[in-house]
Amino acid sequence: MSASRKIAFVGLGIMGKPMAVNLVKAGHHVTGFDLSQASIDTVVAAGGHGAASIADAVKDAEVVITMVPADPHVEAVILGEGGVLENVGAGTLVIDMSSITPQTSIKVGKAAREKGVRTLDAPVSGGEAGAMEAVLSIMVGGEAADFAEAKPLFDALGTTVVHVGPDGAGQTVKAANQLIVAVNIQVLAEAVVFLENAGVDLAAALDVLGGGLAGSTVLNRKKANMLNREFAPGFRIDLHHKDMGIVTDAARAVGAALPVGAVVAQLVASARANGDGSLDHSALLRGVERLSGREVK
Ligand code: NAD
Repeated sequence: MSASRKIAFVGLGIMGKPMAVNLVKAGHHVTGFDLSQASIDTVVAAGGHGAASIADAVKDAEVVITMVPADPHVEAVILGEGGVLENVGAGTLVIDMSSITPQTSIKVGKAAREKGVRTLDAPVSGGEAGAMEAVLSIMVGGEAADFAEAKPLFDALGTTVVHVGPDGAGQTVKAANQLIVAVNIQVLAEAVVFLENAGVDLAAALDVLGGGLAGSTVLNRKKANMLNREFAPGFRIDLHHKDMGIVTDAARAVGAALPVGAVVAQLVASARANGDGSLDHSALLRGVERLSGREVK
């Protein structure tokens, strides 16, 4: 176990809640804050502490972790009135683990440095299951010394923890991650509809596919969703839509063409337009069913 740290954790949703609980289990003093009192209560029940506001959560913290949906939430929570930067002392380490644009991470880093506050961008991959099992992949941008200081905390949350470059680099790698995951889910969904229409036993087919070159973490983690048409999130299509926007913009800025990614971005947007935004991203299957003329309930 690493030395106990005083951590404020802001954003206790699908991902943040199990992550905060894992930090408690690793022996840290964790104070949680979220807009949902029920989420705060879960962290308290696990042995953490609750706060009434961001200011209250961060007042004695050595490390602040944020895990909120998107850029506007990160800007509000860290840079906004009553936010983290207004309420922490110089030297505090602020780690944003949300998936946002690299530009916002760079902006947050710059604003923090002006106050003597250190930042890391540390988005994650592995989904809710990965967060609960503490097996996340964590891609970290920022100063090497700050990464070294935070490494024991990351090790309580994940198993693959890599410093990938300066401010914003973690977000760039996460954008690539989201591109790869979306395309994988889409083609898995296409294979599912193809196999079912062909009359093959789907469970048997996915079992054998999982053992060959077509096997993937996406197949392992999303197989049950597809077999059972069970689409409670997990990872919401709304959030993946946000991420496809991030990767599309970031790739355009550096002159990289993403032809397949662009098509899948449109299919994610279509899922959302069809009312599936609050479902798990495995519900891209429903879009393939619609395109294949099936009735989708
Ligand atoms: P979520 O919507 O379940 O949780 C976000 C939480 O932030 C909510 O509980 C919300 O109340 C809280 N919040 C928003 N504004 C706040 C504020 N001003 N003060 C305090 N709390 C506030 O989302 P999630 O699925 O946990 O995702 C969080 C981030 O992690 C997103 O950027 C997402 O893209 C990323 N991510 C999610 C997954 C996944 O599988 N769910 C996987 C990897 C990365």
